[in-house]
Amino acid sequence: MKYQIGSENRPLSVAIIGSGPSAFYAAGDLLNRTELNVQVDMFDRLPTPYGLVRGGVAPDHQRIKNVTKIYERIASLPQFRFWGNVNFGTDISREEILKHFDCIVYAVGAKSDRQMGIPGEQLIGSYSATEFVGWYNGHPDYLDAQFDFSVEKVAIIGMGNVAIDVARILAKTPEELASTDIADYALEALKNSRVKNIYVIGRRGPVQAAFTSPEAKEMLELEQTEVIVDPEVLKLDGASQRFLDTTKNRDTVRTMEILQRIAGTEPEGKPRQLHLMFQYSPLEIYGSNERVSGIKLVKNKLVEGEGGRIKAEETGIIEELPVGLVLRSIGYKGVALPGVSFDEREGIIPNHNGRVVDERTKEICSREYVVGWAKRGPTGVIGTNKPDAIETTQHLLEDFRGQTAEAPEELKRESIEAWLKSKKIEYVTFEGWKRLDQHEIDEGAKKGKPRQKTTKIEDMLKIIK
Ligand code: NAP
Repeated sequence: MKYQIGSENRPLSVAIIGSGPSAFYAAGDLLNRTELNVQVDMFDRLPTPYGLVRGGVAPDHQRIKNVTKIYERIASLPQFRFWGNVNFGTDISREEILKHFDCIVYAVGAKSDRQMGIPGEQLIGSYSATEFVGWYNGHPDYLDAQFDFSVEKVAIIGMGNVAIDVARILAKTPEELASTDIADYALEALKNSRVKNIYVIGRRGPVQAAFTSPEAKEMLELEQTEVIVDPEVLKLDGASQRFLDTTKNRDTVRTMEILQRIAGTEPEGKPRQLHLMFQYSPLEIYGSNERVSGIKLVKNKLVEGEGGRIKAEETGIIEELPVGLVLRSIGYKGVALPGVSFDEREGIIPNHNGRVVDERTKEICSREYVVGWAKRGPTGVIGTNKPDAIETTQHLLEDFRGQTAEAPEELKRESIEAWLKSKKIEYVTFEGWKRLDQHEIDEGAKKGKPRQKTTKIEDMLKIIK
């Protein structure tokens, strides 16, 4: 017997892979439709939900993390279920999901990092910001990472918000970090840090810096770190000045004002210095005995390229910066999922406004959708994911509107749990996560922290049980 998909007898069943912001915005939009009966099952390879809100957002940005209250409300809806500790590709496959659900929404983000393609990137002491951020945030993938803070000079390549997060964590004192939810082992390691100079290196000028004004402002609030900007570099070239005079982006104007303030501030003699170095490109990371000892940079000038975009052009002036640690923060990159279409060059799941496209045939892959960084690449803040996810869910609903289908056994709610059980997967439900969440909050309260993160998966599972 056939029913209308989305009716009382035949709900529209959606599997979402990943549980970060884009996953929750997609779930929220699907479940908030009164005219449709939709069931959402969200899977994550970790026992914990929230993706980059837990594993990426800086530990001293607790206010940003409050967004999880919205996700909790979505998770409390009766048609929502969370299955943590379930890995797509090993525990469950694309084919199995397509058997048990009407469709899949991939919300897997961009878990790797872009490479610069310069010599020395693989030396000991050169790491991606992805690793460093995952490490200080207690992400189970990065618990074994090691960073040598006995060095005095650190270079951070790139001038986005991630680069500034990384610089700030290195610049803050243990006392400033103690009231955050930074991983315990990271706080311990940073207590012994001998880092004195942090160089954040941007290939273009201050007007093109990718970090935003709140992050710029925070640099001024560092207790023991001076921020250094060469006033000369704020004397803008014609094209940057024209852009600044005409831009509707108030944030760029505000950032420039803050940089002017920094450049005009007399140093107070604080023990650490954070140098914002504009118009330098890295040419090589060099070292001895396989270990980083410095970075070779070329000074750039700014030229107007196609469509008015301001590009960096090498001047040929080479400078060497002796550093013992290099953190590369030039953007995240997506990783292919087993059996799922993937665009290697862009590092995304190819799609037409959220409908997955077969990379080879360029045809739409019916019943497969994508949201977030896996859809558009690693850009935008948490809020950017809401309209992005809704664009996808609108198309998903359009595709199923008016369709009829049978209500086979394997699509039923009970069958999903039976299927996971039959595979002996030690899954974690949302209630299970809430137990761990409460445990972390309680443990954190004892130390005056918002939470004490559990970092090992086996420990998480023990607490949940
Ligand atoms: P991003 O904003 O794209 O910044 C990447 C930086 O790397 C840019 O300065 C870029 O310079 C530079 N870069 C790229 N390729 C390079 C190369 N080959 N050599 C030297 N420099 C290179 O990326 P992100 O910092 O990873 O952040 C990702 C997204 O998350 C962003 O949208 C960001 O705003 C967001 N985020 C937000 C927050 C927050 O709201 N607090 C915190 C963290 C992240 P060009 O501009 O010249 O390309």
